Amino acid sequence: MTVIRQQDFIDSIEDALQFISYYHPLDYVKAVEKAYLKEQSQAAKDAMAQILINSRMSAEGHRPLCQDTGIVTCFVKIGMGVTWDKTDMTVQEMVDEGTRRAYMNPDNPLRASIVADPAGARKNTKDNTPAVVHIDMVPGDHIEVMIAAKGGGSENKSKMVMLNPSDDIAEWVVKTLPLMGAGWCPPGMLGIGIGGTAEKAAVLAKESLMDPVDIQELIERGPQTTEEKLRLDIFNKVNALGIGAQGLGGLTTVVDVKIKSMPTHAASKPVAMIPNCAATRHAHFHLDGTGPAKLEVPKLEDWPEVTWEVGASTRRVNMDTVTKEEIQEWKSGETVLLSGKMLTGRDAAHKRIQTMLDEGKGLPEGVDLTNRFIYYVGPVDAVGDEVVGPAGPTTATRMDKFTDMMLEKTGLIGMIGKAERGPATVKSIAKHKAVYLMAVGGAAYLVSKAIKQARVVAFEDLGMEAIYEFEVKDMPVTVAVDSQGNNAHETGPAIWKAKIEELDAALSK
Ligand code: SF4
Repeated sequence: MTVIRQQDFIDSIEDALQFISYYHPLDYVKAVEKAYLKEQSQAAKDAMAQILINSRMSAEGHRPLCQDTGIVTCFVKIGMGVTWDKTDMTVQEMVDEGTRRAYMNPDNPLRASIVADPAGARKNTKDNTPAVVHIDMVPGDHIEVMIAAKGGGSENKSKMVMLNPSDDIAEWVVKTLPLMGAGWCPPGMLGIGIGGTAEKAAVLAKESLMDPVDIQELIERGPQTTEEKLRLDIFNKVNALGIGAQGLGGLTTVVDVKIKSMPTHAASKPVAMIPNCAATRHAHFHLDGTGPAKLEVPKLEDWPEVTWEVGASTRRVNMDTVTKEEIQEWKSGETVLLSGKMLTGRDAAHKRIQTMLDEGKGLPEGVDLTNRFIYYVGPVDAVGDEVVGPAGPTTATRMDKFTDMMLEKTGLIGMIGKAERGPATVKSIAKHKAVYLMAVGGAAYLVSKAIKQARVVAFEDLGMEAIYEFEVKDMPVTVAVDSQGNNAHETGPAIWKAKIEELDAALSK
């Protein structure tokens, strides 16, 4: 019988969650570097450069890769020969305790994003608990833990289907993926679970994402099994879609496709697909009774030396003086460097603004959106001499339902977020001659370095969802929707899909 100390388990969970908040798995870094070197689309290449620079900065600064530090998902495989030194806590409670300590660590506080009463009050639990824990009893006398911090943007894009037994899984993936938009911050991975029952397929999909990126090895040695053949088929077909990094069009949308399967009912073919984002974060460790797990600290030399410089002709904008007339010249796909003051706001702030305007109360005191830009963000708390913690964009699509009201009633001229806007919102942006700018999702620590001052101006009770005023210097963004309604998330992938077809045709000659 191996005796596992409760304290070792809790300490190991805490350490692993801190570790993955700032260290990308190196297999993911190497895969993005490979994609970056091969990329021909400038917008996608720029986005991957920012992701790689951000990754190295986080590793060096021990600060989160992304402002969304995720929902903790933990697979615990307990050997049948294991016993515990104490029995006053369940495994769920021990994982929660490790989570609580990791997220409230004063040296590197992580953003608490979990809300209780999800169908009602949605009140933040303040310590990012509870974690989602999957427990398996397995043969052996040790404990294996796979733990991840899964971003909401990528989790929100998960899909599930009960296919007919004769249906083609790759066809379903290729048909479904473009409908998921770019809110999952590609380039990333797809986890696919096949078989079992509906809920089991989803768990298999999630667990498959705990495996390392190794598709290049599979390509080199050649697929042997049904799953390996399917992985390659999906990998090639998805990348041929031209969606590219951040959905701006390019050669690489996924750096790997993982599959786990199990037997299923003869009448069923359950399939679940869960994407992993640019903030791929997971760790794997074993406990054998000799103490807490020690994760191997990667060396900074393992990160590529990527630099990213904007061209001399890049448009520089002073947001304090920019006029609506000036933004009419900005073109979809163009890079812009923003300086000056912007306001922030995301889901809860928008909802509250709408209620206040509906009730005839006007905007909250201190908030004037005339000729201003709003940044969709919920930053991590600052530490030390930081102005603000990691502060990358959140998915703009969730703010679509408020956008027409904001443009119509507040004098707002621009928005900054990540991922695409819906068709009605693009029309509204064009109608109001406004613009939507996109920052790179998954480059939050890098973005925070452009923020020189930050202060809360309204809704302080909303915590990370409060309205802040940020003063930024040279914050890089891409014009995603210009004032004529030209949409880079539509044109980019369409152009690159056609280019990839041309490249493939030329190669096969
Ligand atoms: S990279 Fe994108 S999807 Fe992933 S956690 Fe960050 S914002 Fe969310």
